[in-house]
Amino acid sequence: MSDEAGRRPELRSTSGDCRVCGRSALEEIAGFSRFRRVTSDCRPWPSGGRLGVCRACGCVQKPDSRELARELALIYDGYAIYHQGGGAEQAVFGASGQAVSRSSRLVEALRSQVCLPPKGQLLDVGCGNGATLRAFGATMPGWSLVGTELDDRNRPEIESIGGVEGFFVCPVSDVPGHFDMVTMVHVLEHVPRPVALVEMAWAKLSRGGLLLIHLPDYTRNPFDLLIADHCTHFTAETAVRLIRRATGADVTAVHDWVPKELTVVVRAVAVLSRPQPSEAPADALGESIAQELRWLSRLAEAARSIARRGRFGLFGTSIAATWLFAELEEAVDFFVDEDRNRVGRSFLGRPVYHPDQTPAGSQVYLVLPAVTAKAIRPRVAREGVDYHLPPQR
Ligand SMILES: [Zn+2]
Repeated sequence: MSDEAGRRPELRSTSGDCRVCGRSALEEIAGFSRFRRVTSDCRPWPSGGRLGVCRACGCVQKPDSRELARELALIYDGYAIYHQGGGAEQAVFGASGQAVSRSSRLVEALRSQVCLPPKGQLLDVGCGNGATLRAFGATMPGWSLVGTELDDRNRPEIESIGGVEGFFVCPVSDVPGHFDMVTMVHVLEHVPRPVALVEMAWAKLSRGGLLLIHLPDYTRNPFDLLIADHCTHFTAETAVRLIRRATGADVTAVHDWVPKELTVVVRAVAVLSRPQPSEAPADALGESIAQELRWLSRLAEAARSIARRGRFGLFGTSIAATWLFAELEEAVDFFVDEDRNRVGRSFLGRPVYHPDQTPAGSQVYLVLPAVTAKAIRPRVAREGVDYHLPPQR
């Protein structure tokens, strides 16, 4: 990557149809291929990716190609979820620094905002190693739970979760029965055919049932654009558009229950006529993506110059820190993390310190969205360690 990356929104038409609206209106964003990338399970991934934006509906996405399919296969082949914490789910931190798992936060918010009956049936599509099922089962013990995945590798772990009565490795449409709730947590951004998957999930709902879709929001977390196995980069608008297209139903609500992410809830009742996507100006869309890429580029430049000053660490052991580690060509001495599951381990061959143990005299870069970094700094700062904020937006 160079300073030039993302300087201008250079758009050129690319072949292929938009994943969300189906129109042949993708424009490719030049400059993206210079960025190093990262996999969603936090492994560095080489530069050379492609990023496009749909002129018709505004959705940001990786254009379909044989190369993308090859990369996705390679990434999932070696997939190891939450390896930084020895398999423990990533924690999210409240303003005061208390840690809670992302799934617990999501389920707690759901329970407090949506009236759920004491008994019911839940289908979790793409259940991973069972984080959502575990959190849901712990707070809603009267529900029977079913999960699906692409392979069998986590079957014993899933089947040992309280309340789980089924685990299927098959298309969602082949799962027997109907459900009071279908959840898809960090699934839709990974799949090459998101509309088809939502259609299948919708068909599995009982009348009046709830579809819950949880996604990253790249406008609140630009590092999401660097994740090589995210095929689509959603915003609240494009997520709602996709769900309306797939279900014909009106979205009940969009929430920000988990920091930097969005949750869409749809109840299987009202059926509307299918809306046509509206034209969005491609130049404006390209410019907004180019802005995000410029910010990432400036961030890497700033970190590079700070790293030359001496002992240098990155705050975090997830997507953003992994990406910057690769972008700085591994010129990083250590990582800092508040998550106790990660402290004391090694990540990418470097030690992980708690903020309290960070070596005096060192420089630490808060590689986070600007707003988050600003909120965290007062909490983690200590005498003798320089914590650096990312550039202003
Ligand atoms: Zn589109």
